[in-house]
Amino acid sequence: MRVLVTGGSGFLGKRLKLYKPDWIYISSKDCDLTKTLEVKHMFRNIKPDAVVHLAARVGGIKDNTENQALFYYQNVMMNTNIIHEAYLSDTPRVLSALSTCAFPDKLEHYPFSEEDFYKGAPTKTNFSYGYSKRMLHVQSVAYRKQYGMNYSTFCPSNLYGPEDHFGDEYSHFIASLIHKFANFCDNRRIDLWGTGMPLRQQLYIDDLCEIIPILLDKHNTDIPLIVAPNENLSIRDMSQILADFHSDKTIVFKFNGKLDGQYRKDGDNSLFLDLIGGYDFTSFREGIQKTYEWYIENFKEQ
Ligand code: NAP
Repeated sequence: MRVLVTGGSGFLGKRLKLYKPDWIYISSKDCDLTKTLEVKHMFRNIKPDAVVHLAARVGGIKDNTENQALFYYQNVMMNTNIIHEAYLSDTPRVLSALSTCAFPDKLEHYPFSEEDFYKGAPTKTNFSYGYSKRMLHVQSVAYRKQYGMNYSTFCPSNLYGPEDHFGDEYSHFIASLIHKFANFCDNRRIDLWGTGMPLRQQLYIDDLCEIIPILLDKHNTDIPLIVAPNENLSIRDMSQILADFHSDKTIVFKFNGKLDGQYRKDGDNSLFLDLIGGYDFTSFREGIQKTYEWYIENFKEQ
């Protein structure tokens, strides 16, 4: 089967290639997915049997807040082009990545489930990104219903692991935490944003790389399937676990109490576990250790 992966140069795409080297990986250099004609030509040239659509404009709170229009435009254009041109070129299967960030900002109960997907707006700091992911779900469901295509979506929680975007100003929480801790000098304190109280499900990247091929095979429903680990740790607990690795230095970290973000956004993984018959997620302690070791061996400041 010829499987095309969009977002092949991204954090998830690069890692997935280690698991599925025979699939075809593209980046924006191969095809700008916001341009309809380029996407049309790409489908004509590659003639995939299936698409794993990972490409997106992705970023942290600062990037999302400062570039809301770009997040909206680029994501909606990429998704619209991929789904519609896949349909026009008779590509029967598309599996697309959404995000648990697309779920409502506040709900009455946690963990939320797939049924809660449309029960309120996404958080303000992810507003246009979140809605663009919801539209990708709407479009996939519409093409299932009207044209009978096997187009489905899944929602990973926050990802972390080797090859993450370390050391840039837009990096995600775990990547920036590792970068700070690794570059910690004695007698200095690490200042962290917020109160440390919010809870997060952190999904180890290699778990998702194992899971994607299974979903490509098995996930044929209109449900925005939540893919998240069972652990839901506080930011403070995660920081402490990382600090515990540094037995050689005493790391002092302090939360500044500002800009916490959502208190919790944990999703229920029962439908996912039912679908694939159970999954043994990498624990945060194990995943962060592997990530930290990868960082020390491989990361070089640009
Ligand atoms: P990433 O590292 O930022 O990679 C984004 C990818 O999209 C890159 O390969 C990039 O190509 C490609 N891309 C961006 N604009 C493009 C365009 N106009 N045309 C073609 N390709 C374009 O993102 P990621 O972390 O791997 O995320 C992968 C997927 O998982 C995304 O759909 C994201 O929403 C979802 N997700 C991620 C997380 C997370 O914590 N990272 C959590 C939940 C869901 P270039 O390198 O050429 O720019």
